[in-house]
Amino acid sequence: MSNTAGLVIPCKAAVSWEAGKPLVIQQVEVAPPQAMEVRVKIKYTSLCHTDLYFWEAKGQTPIFPRIFGHEAAGIVESVGKGVSDLQVGDHVLPVFTGECGDCAHCRSEESNMCDLLRINTDRGVMLSDGKSRFSINGNPINHFLGTSTFSEYTVVHSGCLAKVDPLAPLDKICILSCGISTGLGATLNVAKPKKGSSVAIFGLGAVGLAAAEGARIAGASRIIGIDLNRNRFEEAKKFGVTEFVNPKEHDIPVQQVIAEMTNGGVDRSVECTGNINAMVSAFECVHDGWGVAVLVGVPNKDAVFMTKPINLLNERTLRGTFFGNYKPRTDLPSVVNMYMNKKLELDKFITHRLSFSEINKAFEYMVKGEGLRCIISMED
Ligand code: NAD
Ligand code: ZN
Repeated sequence: MSNTAGLVIPCKAAVSWEAGKPLVIQQVEVAPPQAMEVRVKIKYTSLCHTDLYFWEAKGQTPIFPRIFGHEAAGIVESVGKGVSDLQVGDHVLPVFTGECGDCAHCRSEESNMCDLLRINTDRGVMLSDGKSRFSINGNPINHFLGTSTFSEYTVVHSGCLAKVDPLAPLDKICILSCGISTGLGATLNVAKPKKGSSVAIFGLGAVGLAAAEGARIAGASRIIGIDLNRNRFEEAKKFGVTEFVNPKEHDIPVQQVIAEMTNGGVDRSVECTGNINAMVSAFECVHDGWGVAVLVGVPNKDAVFMTKPINLLNERTLRGTFFGNYKPRTDLPSVVNMYMNKKLELDKFITHRLSFSEINKAFEYMVKGEGLRCIISMED
């Protein structure tokens, strides 16, 4: 038992009061975990583009005040009633989509879309009682993705926490709790390129470069990176990307450029931009007869995917995935082991480090498209 178990913990959190406005670091009260919940001391968190979309709230439901953050690593402080598989002191990665273990999805080998705990971007409260565990002077503050990791302490459903090797460095593996596992799994578990095949990656941020890393691990011979930001290309070479296309530099659609480069289309494509036009291009650039396209980017809520049905009749496959099809609790420990066994490199994704008090700078880096992942340390 920790000496704070059962008590309200006052601590620092970065609260977002208004769309697109700097977060305010201030004291919040964090209530104890209820049944099946766990209170976690966050050690490190990073920023993923999904946080940015909902903070900007352009094309997404605005829900404020809110505590964002979903890519993180921490240590269990206390557990609520009924939690039997996690204990005080366990090292955990919170995940935006959960695994209850009982529903049809959790029992299916093919799905990670848990009925109970699947991603819900518009919920700002805990599932069990529809209330928030965060408050300031008695006024509730909304949660985000069930994780809200921009806080020294947070409360998470136990089904959204993966217990990991306590020897794994939390300041590195925190990026496995969303972006890197998502991109890696999108390629390895969903696109499944064969050895020697060609793979196009749309969007060369951390998620896209993790998808490229998956293509490299699968033995792809050509990895074509597509991005509107030229500065991404130099960095992407470190991830095995062999060719680059900037759609802005062509006056024909990028899918046509790729078809010309590859004698009719790539074998696989993975879209990691969130932009609807890139999603359509990613689908239309795969080879007819066998090509598979995988959508990963989070679109605006009103975006509509339009393509001619003949593109599907010609035997192209369109798929999509959350969290790279990994079941968070079952599969994440093995992704951490891939890092521990040196099969997966994480250092090259980490381009910035900041202290918690400087969190708004991490937003600036992402808005400007500078660097990949910025690790925010909660300690200083
Ligand atoms: P990021 O901002 O670091 O990278 C996105 C990249 O896409 C940028 O380099 C940008 O220049 C590029 N881009 C934007 N529009 C483009 C276009 N039309 N054509 C080509 N390139 C374009 O973001 P990230 O953190 O790597 O996240 C990437 C996407 O993945 C986001 O949409 C994010 O919300 C999503 N995401 C999805 C899941 C999931 O489970 N499905 C999980 C995490 C993140
Ligand atoms: Zn389930």
